[in-house]
Amino acid sequence: MKKELRRAVIAGNWKMNMTPSEASAAVEKTAELTAGKDGCDVILCVPFIDIPAAVEAAKGTNVKIGAQNVHFEEKGAYTGEISAKMLLEAGVEYVIIGHSERRQYFGETDTTVNLRTKAALAAGLKVILCLGEVKDERVNGITNEIVSMQTKLDLLGVSAEDMKNVIIAYEPVWAIGTGLTATPEQADETCGVIRAALAEIYGKELAEATTIQYGGSMNNANAAELLAKVNVDGGLIGGASLVPEKFDEIVTAAQAD
Ligand code: PEP
Repeated sequence: MKKELRRAVIAGNWKMNMTPSEASAAVEKTAELTAGKDGCDVILCVPFIDIPAAVEAAKGTNVKIGAQNVHFEEKGAYTGEISAKMLLEAGVEYVIIGHSERRQYFGETDTTVNLRTKAALAAGLKVILCLGEVKDERVNGITNEIVSMQTKLDLLGVSAEDMKNVIIAYEPVWAIGTGLTATPEQADETCGVIRAALAEIYGKELAEATTIQYGGSMNNANAAELLAKVNVDGGLIGGASLVPEKFDEIVTAAQAD
């Protein structure tokens, strides 16, 4: 395992939090606190309506701005949806696709996740692709099968070239927003299973070069232990990303690895 081949990435997922003025202040504060900590990439994925304010506040700083979803069609009669081209023109660099809250509450499937991923990559966005097992799947011992299958289905038809712009976020659904965290060993093992699935599709070299984050109640208290694991190349952080001081502590923890 060659952790030094991979770029660490700490990304915040603000979910449905922050008004544009709050977003502006939080991006500025995050940028101020994380300035010069270039041992990892720092990304904040903000609600669509906050994008202009966040992009403006992030200008000239180390903070990159992401969105939380994207539609797979270029344009048309898709009320309430946002295209990749719209995001790019607004200054967005990254987009989260397949978050468990999208799968759980908004009917996302591996098929739509795959379509969104391909559309985002074709347009020039970088993708943070989320996948992970639900509690029953872990309890019944089928986590490895589930995450391998999700990896293969979600990336169906994505070229090796495009994989340079894909980060995978392993997010056990039972750990998101619950305060329950996978143990560092569980996170490491399952990220390793995802890496093995990538190796099956794309070969070992690409698998070793792909950033795989852990997400699920990662915070300033547990980040260092999780990030120290060889297969954990960063974090996707929900709750703790809303408080710049806490998020900065996670960014700081990522400098050591
Ligand atoms: C997330 O939203 O991806 C997430 C991991 O949330 P939390 O850190 O709040 O569990």
